[in-house]
Amino acid sequence: MQKYADIVLPVPLPKLFTYEVPEEFLPVLEKGVRVVVPFGKKKLLSGIVYNIHETKPAAYETKPLMSVLDDAPVVLDMQLNLWQWIADYYQCTIGEVYKAALPSGLKLESESKLCYNPEFEDETGLPEKALMILNYLSEKKYCTINEVNNLTGLKNSYQYIRQLVDVQAVFMNENISESYRPKTEQYLTIHPEHRSEEQLRNCFDLLERAPKQLQLLMIFLQKAGGINDAIKGKSVNRKELLATLENGAAQLGELIKKGFIEQKKRAVDRLETGEVQVKEKKLLSEVQTVAMNEVRNGFDQKKPVLLHGVTSSGKTEIYIHLIDEAIKAGKQALYLLPEIALTTQITSRLKTHFGNSLGIYHSKFSDDERVEVWNNLLKNKSYRVILGVRSSIFLPFSNLGLIIIDEEHEQSFKQFDPAPRYHARDVALVLGQYFNAKVLLGTATPSVESYYNAQSGKFHLVELTTRHEGIQLPEIVVVNTREASRCKMMQSHFSPQLIEQMQKSLSKKEQVILFQNRRGFAPYLECSLCGWIPRCNHCDVSMTYHKHINQLVCHYCGYAVPTYHTCQACGSPSLQFKGFGTQKIEEEIGLLFPDVKVGRMDYDTTRSKKGYENIITEFEQGKVDVLVGTQMVTKGLDFDRVSLVGILNADNMLNNPDFRAFERSFQMMAQVSGRAGRKNRRGTVILQTSNPEHPVIAHVRNNDFVSFFNEQIEERLSYKYPPFYRIINITVKHKNQNTALHAANALTEYLRNNFGSRVLGPQVPPVTKIQDMHLQRILLKLERNASPVKAKQLMQQCINYVVSQERWRYINIVTDVDPM
Ligand code: ADP
Ligand code: ZN
Ligand code: ZN
Repeated sequence: MQKYADIVLPVPLPKLFTYEVPEEFLPVLEKGVRVVVPFGKKKLLSGIVYNIHETKPAAYETKPLMSVLDDAPVVLDMQLNLWQWIADYYQCTIGEVYKAALPSGLKLESESKLCYNPEFEDETGLPEKALMILNYLSEKKYCTINEVNNLTGLKNSYQYIRQLVDVQAVFMNENISESYRPKTEQYLTIHPEHRSEEQLRNCFDLLERAPKQLQLLMIFLQKAGGINDAIKGKSVNRKELLATLENGAAQLGELIKKGFIEQKKRAVDRLETGEVQVKEKKLLSEVQTVAMNEVRNGFDQKKPVLLHGVTSSGKTEIYIHLIDEAIKAGKQALYLLPEIALTTQITSRLKTHFGNSLGIYHSKFSDDERVEVWNNLLKNKSYRVILGVRSSIFLPFSNLGLIIIDEEHEQSFKQFDPAPRYHARDVALVLGQYFNAKVLLGTATPSVESYYNAQSGKFHLVELTTRHEGIQLPEIVVVNTREASRCKMMQSHFSPQLIEQMQKSLSKKEQVILFQNRRGFAPYLECSLCGWIPRCNHCDVSMTYHKHINQLVCHYCGYAVPTYHTCQACGSPSLQFKGFGTQKIEEEIGLLFPDVKVGRMDYDTTRSKKGYENIITEFEQGKVDVLVGTQMVTKGLDFDRVSLVGILNADNMLNNPDFRAFERSFQMMAQVSGRAGRKNRRGTVILQTSNPEHPVIAHVRNNDFVSFFNEQIEERLSYKYPPFYRIINITVKHKNQNTALHAANALTEYLRNNFGSRVLGPQVPPVTKIQDMHLQRILLKLERNASPVKAKQLMQQCINYVVSQERWRYINIVTDVDPM
């Protein structure tokens, strides 16, 4: 009987494609392995086997699979099930999930970029054709799989490329243009067998006839800091050593061959993987023990647990205990964190407890490193616990016993673009069900959805209301900036109270954090005569002034122009800065407190991982007195000497036209306040607002989450928002404003025929144009119990109906389920 295989391909097709399985592949073919298939007229794609069966598709002639790349699955059953769930729920194709799930090193595509690894040496065991490709790459350095096929005359080079990738002779999809630097480097040590003075002398004797090698060994010893350090195993970077001596590589090769020197690859960026001193866990305090027992109680009832614990109450210590238990029970654990909160602070804290059984999965790591984590889990090697960001929910776990979702309220768990637009917290809950794993959500400021789930009994609620060692939560002082302005008491954006508290803290050598949720210098420029405001040519937003580069920048598309000095409408030179961002605050502190060291943490100063770490380290070490930042400073950082937090302007957060604006404002203000006064004593927060009577401000001041929640949940119910209704945003995009509007109107009509009054719109969103695309938004509010799969089918029908019409062929329609 002819067998067929359905293949997941990295293309956004609603259906899986079916291929014939040639006889010879039958013994090796199974669900989850990678295969190469012909696609379209002459393309080759690699994909994943989803299903093997005997049903010939009726609609098209099947083609045979070209080759099978693996002898064991790279994606497990459980993951494929999860992919399907994500595709159904978030209304995308399984191919789109595949693209997001696999690190690029595991996705061979004809456009995949290959990059030669100059440090690769051991060619043994590689087949001739692989060597031929390698040889070709060694000259060319970078090229795509397509180019390899064309230039080597091989029709299908995928399997050889896979072998080269496996032994790290080539890397895939490294970000080549941006500061390419291999993330692993070779390090040299004296071989363990020669680590004594006597043994070393012996080596010297044996090298008498090879003066060049002896010379290199001497330089090595010198670089290692002397014989004593060298025999303790101190390492020297290979490149650094070779830089000292011409033609040293050959000599070094000899020393390695003779077994005098040992060479090992080690990550430059990652924590050293050497021996780690594993520390015992801290004993839990009395309140923590009570909470821990409550958590177990919830797990016993097979419920996810929401741990609502104020900042610094020791949630992380509880996580560590739970992970330890999971590992001891022979299970795997996943610790999910928002990207920005995955810092060296938390990494080293976990590393000291879990040593080499800790794997880290971060989007800022190289793809090569992500592949390593993937394979480590797949082959059940050392990792038992993964600390990871959003995409780590896709990792090939086989025996997951515990999932921790830290900072569960964080909206960055949701992927915004491209599809799949999934929420990692919600997917993690599904993943937990698949594995029957314990799931713990932790935060100091629960999302409205999760707290509602806890109240309605879907989650088990555990609360920690005191900080560790009974340190008090900070005192929050609300300052009325409208009043202060009227009395001419404001010094630019600083109220007298804030200045006074800053002086107090700084004179005691304590640190200050200032929070302003806008980056750049000034949000916009305005002509004081005619009111003209410079706007982006491609988006419907005003441009932000960035002082250091003296440019106006669009925060939506990055478009930048030199700052104007005269109004482009009326020609007058009276352009004025309006509003203020982090850069402006940084400058003003310089004027108010000339001797104070200021650091700034926002998107502009932290684009590289290093940039971010550097700012944190400098602040930690006290090289910076005042840290100014956007919401980044609110993310779970733990500093010892911060006694004052200033929130410069609470108003713009509260005024956002979005049903989550209050929730976000509360979370941000409560989180940033939590940075004040951790280890030593009670801190102070100065909260500046022109609207001190605002209920959200009052709840922040009283640290009263429950009242805040009760108010919110009523609003959500009366206006039909989550958690009571499921929202789906449908955005219609087109270069022409009218076309976008007409298509949106038509789509709305079709949708109304199916969904009735659950359809709202179309409406122009607050930003009506982004990157030259005009937007129209349709909102669908579905009852919680409506089937997402059914809704998806209906919606897709309507969408297909619109885009199948000739005049709307180039319309782009994006659906976003549970938008943030
Ligand atoms: P959270 O995660 O709730 O913000 P942490 O777990 O980071 O709180 O705890 C705050 C600080 O208190 C950390 O420095 C932590 O090491 C310390 N701490 C918490 N619990 C204990 C404990 N039981 N014994 C010793 N130190 C603790
Ligand atoms: Zn003007
Ligand atoms: Zn723009």
